[in-house]
Amino acid sequence: MEPRTTTTSPGRNEPIATSPASSERPAASGRTEPTTPNTFFGGKSHAELATEFNRDEEHVTWHDGALWWIRQKRDKISQQIPEWEELREAASQIKTHLLSNLHDYLIEFEGNLLKNGIKVHWASDAEEHNNIVYSILKAKGITQMVKSKSMLTEECHLNEFLEERGISVVNSDLGEYIQQIDEEPPSHVVLPCIHKRKEEIGELFHEHLGTEKGLSDPTLLTRAARKHLREVFLTRRGALTGVNFAVAETGEFVVCTNEGNADMGAHLSDVHIASMGLEKLIPRKQHLSVFLRVLARSAIGTPITIYSSHYRRPRPGQEMHVVLVDAGRSRQLGRVDFRDSLKCIKCGSCMNTCPVYRKGGGLSYHNTITGPIGAILAPNLDMKRHADLPFASTLCGSCSNVCPVKINIHEQLYKWRQVIVREGYAPKTKSAGMKAMAATLSSPRLFKTAGRLGRWVLKYIPFALKNGLNVWYKHREMPKPPTRSFSEWYARNRANNKSK
Ligand code: SF4
Repeated sequence: MEPRTTTTSPGRNEPIATSPASSERPAASGRTEPTTPNTFFGGKSHAELATEFNRDEEHVTWHDGALWWIRQKRDKISQQIPEWEELREAASQIKTHLLSNLHDYLIEFEGNLLKNGIKVHWASDAEEHNNIVYSILKAKGITQMVKSKSMLTEECHLNEFLEERGISVVNSDLGEYIQQIDEEPPSHVVLPCIHKRKEEIGELFHEHLGTEKGLSDPTLLTRAARKHLREVFLTRRGALTGVNFAVAETGEFVVCTNEGNADMGAHLSDVHIASMGLEKLIPRKQHLSVFLRVLARSAIGTPITIYSSHYRRPRPGQEMHVVLVDAGRSRQLGRVDFRDSLKCIKCGSCMNTCPVYRKGGGLSYHNTITGPIGAILAPNLDMKRHADLPFASTLCGSCSNVCPVKINIHEQLYKWRQVIVREGYAPKTKSAGMKAMAATLSSPRLFKTAGRLGRWVLKYIPFALKNGLNVWYKHREMPKPPTRSFSEWYARNRANNKSK
């Protein structure tokens, strides 16, 4: 699909849960295109970043438990709905239909937005998106903007772009706000600061909001943030929100939050800009009855998000803009094996269940969208930089089991591995090792010789395997070397049985 690039038209320590949001970045013709600057992650791999996260064992255990607790909440609430599996199937089929007819629905959506008096913009990549937002704000003389959670604008690095041009942006979602003042990207699509302790947040608030030193009570910290953000809402003339669902039939869009921050920003501003990826569309309004039921249940185990706000037209005197962003989506749509990843509604459920994510932390994914779904979306954007992500999985399939739109996540991860090896982006040592393994496993003689050699090495020179160069044994106990192989035991056992 070829996007048009026109700007037109008239008219316990309970984790701080935030809002299911939206997301992506540049396409064009090239195979790879850097998206996430390496400056924050220092060009480190998933394994290196996860190792850093793992240094604090107690914290990792807490992180693991907090996410698993949300996963269990999701299980409990979804089991209360007898038709849960039918809802997942319906959500998946609606998105399949949408992706197969995206061009037509985009045109229908654009037409209805215009009828509703909303200005429409098309952006093929992040830069174009950022320039569009900047030009809207500049035209109105706005130098301060409040933003509700939008993973798309995180991916486009909109804040940095605007700040370089003299426009300050405040993220109003509490978790995003915390990440912003700590100058870190979000680590989770729904729980952006889940990797932080309340004591760390207390320190940040002491430094930035002047709260009492040592204060770490979540309620008091939330009150302090609310007081500060209220002032921001009241003084900003420009507001940007993400989009959870955009309805082609009516030209309206729905933003889901648990804090009401999107509503505060949008209602109090003179200019409301909504940025959305092309795949956020749904064909009909009645389809919301499926998606709104699965979204919050999957995300944080609640029946619905506290606010599911519908925006259909600007209020008198207000300007409303929708920016439709491609940013790599057309390319992913063209990848037959991976197009279903565009069904994602960013509930974060695959992150909460993933053992690698829970133990490694979201920031180890060195990408805006983290976890299993991030590991599928990221290589589409920059295959070289994100070549390690599809390998950061046990392929246990738990992600696919919980996904409310039934994306075959673990199968796509497996397929990405094949593509990455084929394209030459796998580490040389891994490719050489796999070739040696394939040759050994396909030759009975070589297999037996390797087995004998391995048993001898384990017995007489175990340090040849257990050393700093062999990461496999870093956190594992050496097995006791068997005295003989299975085939030797089998042959002897058969001979013994025959002679009886
Ligand atoms: S892939 Fe599925 S489970 Fe993961 S965030 Fe997207 S919709 Fe949720």
